[in-house]
Amino acid sequence: MNIEDYVCQFCGRTAKNFVFAAFTCESEECIDAARKERGGPGGHMKRKAEGRPMIIFDDEE
Ligand SMILES: [Zn+2]
Repeated sequence: MNIEDYVCQFCGRTAKNFVFAAFTCESEECIDAARKERGGPGGHMKRKAEGRPMIIFDDEE
């Protein structure tokens, strides 16, 4: 699959990402729109942005 054969579902520019089950360009707005369309917070990036605790894997020893 060549992602650049697709267009951003939100602004129509060449797609650069496939996130939250949607093709998006590089714009954070479009990525955010994809996330909202998917049904709210779900990605760890968003969780981090909101200041929620990340899951810590206790495997450093
Ligand atoms: Zn876009």
